[in-house]
Amino acid sequence: MSSSNPTPDAERKPTRVGVLGAGQLGRMLGLAGRELGLDFMFVDPVEETPPAACVGEHLGLDYDSPEALERLAACDVVTYEFENVPVAPAQAIAARTRVFPPVLALAVAQDRLHEKTCFGELGIPTPPFRDITSAGDLASGLAELGYPAVLKTRRFGYDGRGQAVLQTADDAERAYAELGTVPLLLEGFVAFERELSLIGARSANGEVRFYPLVENHHRAGILRLTLAPAPNLAPERQALAEGYMRALFERLDYVGVLALELFQIGGRLIANEMAPRVHNSGHYSIEGARTSQFEQHLRAVLGLPLGSTELVEPSAMLNCVGALPDASAVLAVPDAHLHDYGKAPRERRKVGHVTVRAPDVGTLADRLATLKSIVERAEVG
Ligand code: AMP
Repeated sequence: MSSSNPTPDAERKPTRVGVLGAGQLGRMLGLAGRELGLDFMFVDPVEETPPAACVGEHLGLDYDSPEALERLAACDVVTYEFENVPVAPAQAIAARTRVFPPVLALAVAQDRLHEKTCFGELGIPTPPFRDITSAGDLASGLAELGYPAVLKTRRFGYDGRGQAVLQTADDAERAYAELGTVPLLLEGFVAFERELSLIGARSANGEVRFYPLVENHHRAGILRLTLAPAPNLAPERQALAEGYMRALFERLDYVGVLALELFQIGGRLIANEMAPRVHNSGHYSIEGARTSQFEQHLRAVLGLPLGSTELVEPSAMLNCVGALPDASAVLAVPDAHLHDYGKAPRERRKVGHVTVRAPDVGTLADRLATLKSIVERAEVG
């Protein structure tokens, strides 16, 4: 026992983490952080009780309200669990306490034009793109990039919302009428073989770790399945992706978990977008990796040593969209784990996920096939 006077319990103040947003990512951050003895406050102007409310205090205030700013500035560190929080309040908080990832990363990731320009400047391959501010821009952009192309809102797109694939001039006209009230980006269509993502972390003291690349499957614009690790992946692809993320870490002076979504065509990886936060394609890591992305993010922003990113076993994650599956059926599958976000069922809404592990990929495929039918039976949207 140490002979120095221990701090009396009453005076021991836990480290307080402020989080902008209070959705399921916040909830899983909070669950990981409470094991580390951290205390959480979530700010999110939602009306209903948000998923993170069960793991910390929830302030149902606008991000830029004076009370939210005061309370956040009093936290030991502030982070975000989704990227569409306004930059101005994040900047105001950063003047008063530590905000990680840096506000620059938030600003770049919020705007597809800035994001793709940043990729280009760092030599990270990305689809050809054009800034679209008028119908004339769209016509000349399509003349240059050709069909098919993808028209996207520069900001606030998610789960396939705010974008359209253009095959013909008619499609272009229709999509512009629908989306053209806000700034847009036109991208060349990438005939990719598969979609991958890389999750990495950089800590406040510069330590860097990467998880293995994972393979992602979407339906109707929503992530449905992640396979970890990505099957049949040459080590060169992992090294290539890590090189791209290292460049982003340097440029953005990054601290925290970062996700990079990539299209694979043969040996090439083309960056689609990044997320300056924990990511849906990393949810498998709660059971599938030695250190979950949530704990890793907290370690990174608190300047603690990063944990091992090694996989425990081959794993897969299925999103539950619209409604939760039957828990008894899911949990009857060996080494399957159900995560219920506590959200009301609603079409196209992510309300939970299932992770499954197995000692080999053959067994994983069998377990996954069973789980897929259980999850899809409940799905809405
Ligand atoms: P995003 O909102 O940019 O992540 O796009 C959602 C999904 O649309 C991606 O996961 C891809 O499946 C598809 N997508 C986006 N951009 C392109 C593109 N330039 N070429 C082909 N497919 C795309």
